[in-house]
Amino acid sequence: MNRHIKDSLDRPLRDLRISVIDRCNFRCQYCMPAEIFHENFQFLPKSELLSYEEIVRISKIFASLGVKKLRLTGGEPLLRKNLSTLISELVSIEGIEDIGLTTNGVFLKKHAADLKAAGLQRVNISLDSLDDVLFKQMNGRDIGTKPVMEGIAAAKEAGLGVKVNMVVKKETNESQILPMARFCKEEGIQLRYIEFMDVGHTNGWQLKNVITKKELLEMLQAEFELEPVEEDYFGEVAKRFRYKGTTTEVGFITSVSESFCSSCTRARLSANGSLYTCLFNGKGHDLKSLLRSEMSDEELTDFIISLWNHRDDRYSDERAAGTRKKQEKIEMSFIGG
Ligand code: SAM
Ligand code: SF4
Ligand code: SF4
Repeated sequence: MNRHIKDSLDRPLRDLRISVIDRCNFRCQYCMPAEIFHENFQFLPKSELLSYEEIVRISKIFASLGVKKLRLTGGEPLLRKNLSTLISELVSIEGIEDIGLTTNGVFLKKHAADLKAAGLQRVNISLDSLDDVLFKQMNGRDIGTKPVMEGIAAAKEAGLGVKVNMVVKKETNESQILPMARFCKEEGIQLRYIEFMDVGHTNGWQLKNVITKKELLEMLQAEFELEPVEEDYFGEVAKRFRYKGTTTEVGFITSVSESFCSSCTRARLSANGSLYTCLFNGKGHDLKSLLRSEMSDEELTDFIISLWNHRDDRYSDERAAGTRKKQEKIEMSFIGG
């Protein structure tokens, strides 16, 4: 039986983001700074990660509660072995209309064809700079743009829809705002500028490092003619514009400057199987223990319904209004983007 549920602020449950792994081959300063995620950092042992069987079981339950979109993320999701096997099982779940994958793109050249064959429709590839030196600095691993470019090409070649995500941070990659727009427009790829967010405790976030959508748009409009695009569906995250005379769009994820909590329909499952009803929750709800207990699907479903019914998270709205209480926050690499 399909039940569509609402939280205490009348928001339905529509999206589930699943972090399949906490490890990553990059050390982006804004996400996994190398000083903290160093050689001896204790990542989760395999036994602590949700198994594919567990991910499929929980996804079926979420689908029965109205979830239509799944997004696989991490850490770097392509570091998890045989991800295509998981995707092929997720695509066949009744009610799931869309599956996305967010990746840094380095391993896409190797996997794009398999992912497409497994039923994946689209990928979001993160790329913060076209400049090799800056890109190496930003990813903290001395990896140039070449493998990411090859990943983008392989994804297109395999027939996957491609969007590019760029986190914009003042005094870091401002110089790349326009070159990235030109590159993506030329390639017919939707670029999404992401405002630098205050996720976790390790990335040294300060408001003064945020370049807002308004500022970005002004920079773009000095060079391009843009027209706004209507929202596709309730809860759409990106504010989108189209380059006039083309079908190519550019989007903005305005988590800081224009919060969008009132239409937030997303739940997140961390790599170790905890459920978070907001990106900024400090503590999740341990679904893994429940999945590994004697609990039936019906009991798990009731547990999630009760959680969602009580949900009142609106962290970004509260930050904008200055009413936010200080709270513990979870790291982005753990919970996924
Ligand atoms: N490793 C994959 C990647 O980079 O695409 C997937 C996981 S990553 C945590 C998901 C998304 O979160 C990426 O697009 C990344 O740029 C973004 N992200 C990470 N830390 C961020 C921050 N502090 N502010 C805004 N976006 C961030
Ligand atoms: Fe890794 Fe993605 Fe975080 Fe960069 S943003 S450190 S690629 S998880
Ligand atoms: Fe959703 Fe929390 Fe982000 Fe608001 S702050 S949009 S509730 S994840």
